[in-house]
Amino acid sequence: MADPRGFLKVRERELPPNRPVEVRLRDWRDVHAHLEEGQPFLREQAGRCMDCGIPFCHNGCPLGNLIPEWNDLVRQGQWADAIDRLHATNNFPEFTGRICPAPCESSCVLGINQPPVTIKNVEVSIIDEAFARGLVTPQVPQRLTGHTVAVVGSGPAGLAAAQQLTRAGHTVAVYERDDEIGGLLRYGVPDFKLEKVHIDRRLEQMRAEGTRFRPGVEVGKDVTWVQLQARYDAIVLATGATVPRELQVPGLGLDGVHVAMDYLHQANAAVAGKDVPEPITAEGKHVVIIGGGDTGSDCLGTALRQGAASVTTLAIGKRPPTERPESQPWPTDPVLFEVSSSHEEGGERAYLASTVAFLGDEGDAGGHVRALRLATTEYLPDGRRVPTPGTERDVPADLVLIAMGFTGPETGDLTDQLGVELTRRGAVARDDDFCTSVPGVFVAGDAGRGQSLVVWAIAEGRAAAASVDAYLSGSSELPAPVSAS
Ligand code: FAD
Repeated sequence: MADPRGFLKVRERELPPNRPVEVRLRDWRDVHAHLEEGQPFLREQAGRCMDCGIPFCHNGCPLGNLIPEWNDLVRQGQWADAIDRLHATNNFPEFTGRICPAPCESSCVLGINQPPVTIKNVEVSIIDEAFARGLVTPQVPQRLTGHTVAVVGSGPAGLAAAQQLTRAGHTVAVYERDDEIGGLLRYGVPDFKLEKVHIDRRLEQMRAEGTRFRPGVEVGKDVTWVQLQARYDAIVLATGATVPRELQVPGLGLDGVHVAMDYLHQANAAVAGKDVPEPITAEGKHVVIIGGGDTGSDCLGTALRQGAASVTTLAIGKRPPTERPESQPWPTDPVLFEVSSSHEEGGERAYLASTVAFLGDEGDAGGHVRALRLATTEYLPDGRRVPTPGTERDVPADLVLIAMGFTGPETGDLTDQLGVELTRRGAVARDDDFCTSVPGVFVAGDAGRGQSLVVWAIAEGRAAAASVDAYLSGSSELPAPVSAS
């Protein structure tokens, strides 16, 4: 039972400070300093949770995390029970506790008239403490079912599905075309948000439980989808939404204009100590990032650490800017421009800036990019966003990173070889239970949902696993926190 007066005793919301900007820009380590047990304010902060009776935080979290329960266990210093309750709904709190935008905190009842409980920080402290105390041990299934499952894609959706299915006794192999397991957590999200040791130690647990990993295998090319279908009793597609949204303006083909993921993939590989021949680097360059979301801000933090001469992020927003006072030059609405730790570190931002053309050594016809031609964005009554004529200006750039989001999964081999149906938006079509149009083939994460968040990928991986288990075994006791509808 939580201390019902805890929030009255500790009114301030307190978080561990981020590492100083000038220090963290010199390395790739996590920008956040995380709390360790014994630091008094963590338990006090957990004690601000008032166990409000209708914990909206449960619904705010796609995983249905049992937040008041583990807050109270942390308040009492009961770490073993806390990690049990946290793991009951979330396979990978070390990921969500670090990089989730924490919709749970926006739903916290205390937040109605006080700052919300520091749920995300309590979450990451529980899992860090659990690893440090040796409380995260393999959960090897007591019996094997004899059924086999191929999970294709090793991001958070694939890994969550694989762990659930392995623990249910199925023999699971995870296929990944990259040389390392982890999906966007490995090669998209930079180390300053998520150090890779967190992935590696979880994979160690999964291996000990029996999950098999097949990195460096592209399904559809190295092995066909049909071969996979013949070899396994079920398939989970967790291939992500990897097709970048394009910007069709003159000069797109100039040298020095790249999609963000090409840049981030290489940068993350280099940080991991891999040999990257002729990497795209921001060192000494004037960098312009097109797109103000998570991907754009990860490019910003990366470019600053690589020693860019300047970095400008451009955004246009999904809807017109709301009224804001003179003193607040940037929109506070997150739909318009997200603010992350990278924005504390430097760089300029240009808002309502539509790119009209890339200009190179020979205009927009060739050579290396030298500038972007921008125009002020105008919102038309039908919702379209267009450049306003007469507002054009040029900004210097010798590296341009296009971070405008993703349109959906790569589907050519999937439809040709497996014949799965797609939605009108190009994602893999599924019913409420994550079944695709092909019997025995399921989908989870961004491949079916479209580009989303880690917490949704884990929730969908868990729910898809329950469906696969029911398909193979006739029924399932695995939890299904979300439906696909
Ligand atoms: P992914 O993580 O995309 O994994 C899919 C995997 O499938 C990839 O490794 C791919 O190589 C593999 N694959 C694809 N096709 C094949 C094939 N044919 N054969 C074998 N393997 C294949 N979300 C947050 O919540 N917080 C953040 O801070 C955040 N930051 C982000 C930063 C960036 C730069 C990006 C791009 C996304 C970010 N996201 C963030 C979103 C989040 O990373 C995704 O929603 C999540 O990773 C989706 O998980 P997934 O398992 O569906 O797919």
